[in-house]
Formats: sequence, C-alpha cells, structure tokens
Amino acid sequence: MPDDESLKVRELRANSGQKKFGWIKVAEMQDSRPAEIPVALIKGRKQGPRVYLQAAIDGDELNPIGVIRRIITRIDPGQLSGEIVAVILANFFGFHWNEPWNPIDKLSMNRVWPGRADGSSSERIVDQLWKEIVIHSNYAIDIHQTGISPSVGSVYVRVGKDEPNHDVAFEMARVFGSGHILDEKESKIYASDSFNPKSAETKLSWQATVRGTPTITPELSGSFGWVEGSIQKGVHGVENVLKHLKMIPGDPEIPKRQYVVRHLKNLLANRGGFIEFKQELGSIIDAGNTIVEVSDPFGQVLDSVVAKEKCLLWRISEYPMVSTGQYVATIATEIEEIA
Ligand SMILES: [Zn+2]
Repeated sequence: MPDDESLKVRELRANSGQKKFGWIKVAEMQDSRPAEIPVALIKGRKQGPRVYLQAAIDGDELNPIGVIRRIITRIDPGQLSGEIVAVILANFFGFHWNEPWNPIDKLSMNRVWPGRADGSSSERIVDQLWKEIVIHSNYAIDIHQTGISPSVGSVYVRVGKDEPNHDVAFEMARVFGSGHILDEKESKIYASDSFNPKSAETKLSWQATVRGTPTITPELSGSFGWVEGSIQKGVHGVENVLKHLKMIPGDPEIPKRQYVVRHLKNLLANRGGFIEFKQELGSIIDAGNTIVEVSDPFGQVLDSVVAKEKCLLWRISEYPMVSTGQYVATIATEIEEIA
C-alpha cells in the first residue's frame, strides 16, 4: 500500500509531504451536471499505514463533517507517517436534500455496502468509494452522529467477537477514547432493522472490517447543526487513533475508565404526552428506578418508564413530547467497565 509513489484517487494526487483537496464525480444530476464529492489526500513524508476517514454517509450528520475539516487542517504532512484519504461528504444527494438517506433511491447509504456498479444511485456511489478507496486502506473511521438526538457520544464496533479483525477494531474503539463503546454485532437495535437481519452486514464498518480494513464507527452526539463539544470529541478520538497507529506524534489520551456495552434497546412510549427524564444522559440506572415520565398538557403524570434491569441512558429524544409508540430513549445493557 503506502510507498514512494504518489497517493491518488482519480486525477487527484498528493506526493510525499503534500496535502491535496479536490472533488471526484460519483454521479450525474438531473440536469446532466456532475455530482462531485469533496476528497482530501494527505501523504506523509514518512512511511506508515493508510487511513480512510469518511463523514456524512448519512447525509444530515453534520458534526462528522466538522471533525474531518478540522483534522485535515491540523495534520502536518511533514510530521505524518502514512497516508490519509478523507471523504468529507459521502452522501451527495442526502446532504443537499438535508436527509439522512439518499433521496434518489430512498436508501440508507450505510445499508448498501459494498455496493454494486450497476445498482441504484446509493449502490453505485458506494461501489466507487469501496473499490477506489476503502479496499486500498489499512484502517477506516466512518464518523456518524446519533441523528439529531443527544447521546453519550460513543464508538460502535460492528463485527462480532468471532469475526475477522474484531480485536483490531475494538482496540481502535478503545483508544478513540470517547468513554462509551458498543461492542456488538448490531442487527436488532432499531425496530425498522428487525425485518432485516442482515443489516449489520450491509454496513461499511462490517464489510470493511471482515475483508481486511478494520473500521470503527464513532457515533457522536446528535444535533441539528454543528456542536462544538461533539466535534471536539470526534477530533480528539481520530487523533488518538492516529497516535495509536504511530502516524502522528504523541500518545493517545484515553479516559481512565470507559464503559463497554453489549446491547442497545429503544424505549417506546405507551402513552402520548410530554416527557421528563428523571436521569441524566450517561448515568447508570439500577433496576426499579424511573427513567422517564410521560404527562398530559396539565402536568398530570400518565405513565412512568421504569428500568427493568441495570442500564445506562445512552441516547434521548430530541423533542420533549411523544405519541403512543414513539421513540423516547435508548438504553444500553450488559455494561462492563474497562480501565
Ligand atoms: Zn449515521
């Protein structure tokens, strides 16, 4: 992989010690003009691995774009050992439509990996990223955020313990140092995914990891726009991974204790009304304690959601009101603390 030759993606090239920014065409718009996505190449002066950074494969996830912009600005190619290829905005159409999915084929671009050259819009774009960038990289960090909902800010390891490169990916997640790691082959987290048991296998992080490019998925805290704290956590995590890989100087700064969880569960409302959390985001809740109350417009409590087992409040609804059956929060269970 990395060698003395220039680092290139299509006509974009970076020689040793260079940073190059440009655009690559991944599709055509309805007026026949090219749909181009921004790509950054950084080739270090010294040898080292190639890392792929990706943001906004879910088109409305903006904090990850903020993270990559800052990383590529801060990296000094003279101090870099190895190479960085960054796609700053992977879901062209979703980004321009302010939607998480690709509005052209209505698909999630994180559920179609490794893509298909003769497939639908999402599959074709992913096929190009996969063949031209991902498989030529040693490691990848696919940066996400939890939609618009506030969350603990975590890193997901999408492959199971018995699958190839799990341990390498888990170590990347540990050194990322967000404080919270989901170590699970996720296939039943979201209600909509329960009809698609292969959902984990259709994600970049699963495909790339098992095929030889260990990949982690940071899930920064969600928001509508850019949130400085969320961006800083992402920048710190990516730099920690680059330090761990000996690509930039310094040692990773990792929290003394981090939580590893095995399962995430969505809490759905049994009554409609206003919600009031009785626990802080990130807190550990013992069985029997109330997590959230639902009340009517007069302030009368209609329902309490009580923890059935020890859990950690992982993510909460962005709005303070819900309908029956609507998402309220995500809790994590089977919690382990690592030093
Ligand atoms: Zn996402």
